[in-house]
This record gives sequence, C-alpha cells and structure tokens, in this order.
Amino acid sequence: MDNPIVKKLEALIKLQNVDSQLDEIKKVRGDLPEEVQDLEDEIEGYQTRIKKFESECDLLKDEIKNLRTAIKDSERLIEKYEKQQNDVRNNREFDALAKEIELQDLEIRICNKKIREVEERIDKKEGMIGDTKETMVERQKDLDNKRTELEVILKENEEDERKLLKDRERRTKQVEPRLLHAYNRLRKGSRNGLAVVSVERHACGGCFNIVPLQRQAEVKDRKKIIVCEHCGRIFANVIDVIEEEAPKRKTRRKSTRKKRTTTRTTKKRATRTRAKK
Ligand SMILES: [Zn+2]
Repeated sequence: MDNPIVKKLEALIKLQNVDSQLDEIKKVRGDLPEEVQDLEDEIEGYQTRIKKFESECDLLKDEIKNLRTAIKDSERLIEKYEKQQNDVRNNREFDALAKEIELQDLEIRICNKKIREVEERIDKKEGMIGDTKETMVERQKDLDNKRTELEVILKENEEDERKLLKDRERRTKQVEPRLLHAYNRLRKGSRNGLAVVSVERHACGGCFNIVPLQRQAEVKDRKKIIVCEHCGRIFANVIDVIEEEAPKRKTRRKSTRKKRTTTRTTKKRATRTRAKK
C-alpha cells in the first residue's frame, strides 16, 4: 500500500463501488421521481390557470357591478325627469324631458345587454375553472399514487442509501481533486455510470474495445494511472484469462456482452416511451 498509485486506484475503486450501488438503488426508482416531478409541475400549472381565471372572473363581476350602478343612475334620472314633466310650462319642455327619458332608457337597455354578455363570459370562464379543477383532481390522484409508490421504494432503501451516501462522502475525500474531477466527468458521460473498470478478456470493461497487451502490462505495473484509449475510463486492474482459451473466446464474449448492453438500453428506452404515454 506504499505505492501512491495503488492508493489512488484503491480509493477510486472503492468510490466506484459505492456509486454503482447507489446507481442500482436509483435504477429501482426508474422514472418515478421524474414522473412525480412532472405531475407536480402540471398541477402547479393548473393552479396558476385557475387563479388567473378566477381573477378574470372577479374583474368581469366588477364590470357588472359598474353597469348595475349605471342603470341605477339612469333610473334615478328618469324618475327625476318624470317628476319635472309634471311641472312643465309648455309642450317643448315636456318633449325635451321625454327625449332625456328616452336616452336614459336606451342607456339602461345597452347596460343590460352588456351585463348579459359579461355574464356569458363569466359562465364560460367558470366552466373552464370547473374543467380545470376536475382534471386537477384526477392528476392529484395520480400524483398521490405515484408519491406513495415512490415513498415505499425510498423507504425500502432509505437506510442503505443513507449509509452509502455517507460512505461516498468519505470516499470522495480520499480521492485527489484532479482525479475526482475526471472520475465525475467520466461517470456523467457513461450510460452505465462506470468510470473505473477492469480489463477483462483483453477488453475494456466499459467500452469493450480491445486493450493492447502493452497497456495491460502497464495497468498491472500500477506505476501510473492508465486509461482506456477509446473511452478514457480508468483501468483498475486486469482480470487474467487462461491464455489458451483466450484467443478463441475473446471475440465471441465481446459480442455477447455488447449485445447484452444493447438489450438493456432498448429495454430502458421502451420503459421511457411507455412512461411518456
Ligand atoms: Zn474503454
């Protein structure tokens, strides 16, 4: 353990181990966390929409109030003009007042028409509020179910995850920053979350490309950190194969593995597509 490279590698391998276990836990959750998030966003959208409709309704109701006040004003004027008609001195004055009354009457009719229009708009808006609320209730049910489902899964792994995260924190501190940065970058870029891999059957355990013997020897030497020339993953070690068996099985194994990876990816994609529907 005096070899600094061995120490660095060991730290990386342990970190990768913890991260892979965390990845497994996350895999069990699948798309659930995102689905829950999506539903939460959707419901928030409905709430915003309802609030907007409601404030629009309030404005329309104010409009009706104003129209009703205008009607009252006109009615008062009509009443006043009618009283004045009793005290006129001639026909001309009477007719002039009649004209005023007619105008106010017209005003009242216009206001009533406007009120009916606004009421229709309120009805429409309230209908939309009702529909949105209905959809929201449905979505809320979906959300509750999914949340419960997720909570069960989270609870199942809560203890493990907590330990692993704590472990990860500790492991992370043992890896030097430059390496940690490379490690995180590699993990981010890889589908299987593997940044540290073994050379197995002469192939990189991450991308399955052949690793030249010279490079394998360097990995075994552990004098420096060796990475895959194809994918850049860090080689932890070389898992030896029995030499006579190796050349024949090497290629076949490689293709089987590749196939398996593809199947997994396809499956994943299928799940995602299903989830979208
Ligand atoms: Zn590779």
